[in-house]
Amino acid sequence: MLEENLKTISAEAEKHQAVLVAVSKTKSMDEILQVYDKGIRHFGENYADELVAKHIRLPDDIFWHFIGHLQSNKAKLIAPFVYLIHSVDSIRLLNELEKQGSKYNRVIKCLLQVHIAKEESKFGIKPEKLMDFIHESLKTKRRHVLIDGLMGMATLTGDEQSIRNEFRQLKLLFEEAKKLLPQISILSMGMTSDYTIALEEGSTMIRIGSAIFGERNSGT
Ligand SMILES: *Cc1c(COP(=O)(O)O)cnc(C)c1O
Repeated sequence: MLEENLKTISAEAEKHQAVLVAVSKTKSMDEILQVYDKGIRHFGENYADELVAKHIRLPDDIFWHFIGHLQSNKAKLIAPFVYLIHSVDSIRLLNELEKQGSKYNRVIKCLLQVHIAKEESKFGIKPEKLMDFIHESLKTKRRHVLIDGLMGMATLTGDEQSIRNEFRQLKLLFEEAKKLLPQISILSMGMTSDYTIALEEGSTMIRIGSAIFGERNSGT
């Protein structure tokens, strides 16, 4: 664990009243516990099976975030306990989460993932399609799934202004979405390389992996 980084990032998050999610994908239980012992309670994972395995073995008071792409058939694995799913980008997944939430008699909180980066990606709702998506989602009443905000990833680039513009665009979309979804409260943006910019642009939740745990040597 990179303790100095953890302190700096926690302080930055706190200054902006943002939640710090420590992204622990590919990291061991011991590595996670070291960060847990420093007081961190929000952890994020990208793979459903890995998340389940860690949830079973690690302390009960951890808030588990799912931040990777979620296949509908994997939703049932994490539905009983997941705290927040950051990556909803289809009505089909919303429907599946409603079904699973109902089965476990809980409300599953999620964010809509918006594709703000220039890199090609199959995942995330296109910015110009977001309002249509929300309108479509509102046609069905779902009591076991709650859309609580938006998530986005900026382009991986050294060009700070372009990153800033993308986060700014997501913040504007958040304000726009709020007109239809007044309950939304979370804007999840910012990773190791760009979280300071994200916080300046209104992020309420940052997802930090390598700056806390060190570089990953496998996976993404
Ligand atoms: C891996 C990952 C992160 C953390 O990335 P770092 O650059 O290591 O901080 C954040 N968000 C998502 C969606 C990720 O997949």
